[in-house]
Amino acid sequence: MSITVVGSIAYDSVTTPFGARERMLGGTAVHFSLAASFFADVHVVGPVGDDWGETEMATLARPGVSTDDVERVSGGKTFFWRGHYDYDLNTAHTDDTQLGVFAEFEPKLSDASRACDVLFLANIQPELQLRVREQCERARFVALDSMNLWIDTARDALVRVIETVDCVLLNDAELRMLTDQPNLVRAAREVISWGPGAVVAKQGEYGATLITRAGFFSLPAYPLETVLDPTGAGDTFAGGFIGTLAAGDGPLDEQVMRSAMAHGTTLASFNVEEFGTERVSRLRHPEIEARVHELREMTSFSGVPLPARH
Ligand code: AMP
Repeated sequence: MSITVVGSIAYDSVTTPFGARERMLGGTAVHFSLAASFFADVHVVGPVGDDWGETEMATLARPGVSTDDVERVSGGKTFFWRGHYDYDLNTAHTDDTQLGVFAEFEPKLSDASRACDVLFLANIQPELQLRVREQCERARFVALDSMNLWIDTARDALVRVIETVDCVLLNDAELRMLTDQPNLVRAAREVISWGPGAVVAKQGEYGATLITRAGFFSLPAYPLETVLDPTGAGDTFAGGFIGTLAAGDGPLDEQVMRSAMAHGTTLASFNVEEFGTERVSRLRHPEIEARVHELREMTSFSGVPLPARH
């Protein structure tokens, strides 16, 4: 199964209470692709500018990631994001967003990208997500991520794309903001009423919850003692989650969806241990499986007989 992703390909300048980096490799499509490539082939769609370096390209173009649809726009500048976090690492504060080459980008997908089985519309302008969605009609599973900026500035377009996808991944505050529903379960149900069969509510250090038409499943985050930079955690979660769904060709039943949640949670936990893509770019598959196993041990329980006292 192959995955196509459109999203930002970026330089990020990030400050957390534990350090800072200037113009490191980032972007929603980049974090997603590195994580998803552990499970399936990924085609990345998006533009970069003249300032895009060979080192960044080499990190992105790891085995399993096709960069054939990464377009270099001469005279343009690569997407740039500057943000910081205070001790509450669940909240990113955006200090600067420069769309650069994304402002004028007209996606023209290659045949290989159009023929994907699974499509991930990572966080980027909803109009752009829609134009890529229209070119991948045959995808059997389509998922989408977004953020507060687009809910604020392009809500109508965002709702239009949501109506065309199978799964929406948003953090819990964004879900409330999108639907105007204070309760998370009601917010997810409202999104489901627009078309998608599943909603994943990302809850930062508290984990993630999957709400479908038929069911509910929740996992805590993997408990870490050291978290340096949460940037990209959501996209890395999505890479593990969608990658797992794309890895098999059977039905996407409850068991597969739960395993996908565990892999998303695990990939995200590696991502936050270091800055940007530093940790995930040298991650090995056995480390992932070991942590998924630990997560399973931590979260499974069986009933013990108790007296009925009343
Ligand atoms: P997250 O997984 O939510 O932490 O996403 C982090 C990534 O989102 C960073 O690498 C940024 O480059 C990227 N990003 C930030 N703002 C935007 C935006 N408005 N559109 C697309 N990507 C963005």
